Amino acid sequence: MSCEHLICARCSSPVVEGRCPTCRVARAEIHHHHGPAVPPSVILIALVLAFALAFALALQHLS
Ligand SMILES: [Zn+2]
Repeated sequence: MSCEHLICARCSSPVVEGRCPTCRVARAEIHHHHGPAVPPSVILIALVLAFALAFALALQHLS
C-alpha cells in the first residue's frame, strides 16, 4: 500500500508531500507499516546459513 494517492483532510494536499503535521504523522505511520525492521530475505539467508553450517558439521562427524 502506498500513501501517494491519499489526500489530507487538513491541508487538502497529497499526504506524501507532508505539508502539515497531520500529513507527516500519517505518512510516517503508513511507511512504518511497510515492513518489519528485518527484511524477510535477511531472515531467510540466516536460516540457509544456519542450515548449511549444521550440514557441514554433520558431514564432518560422518567422515
Ligand atoms: Zn496535511
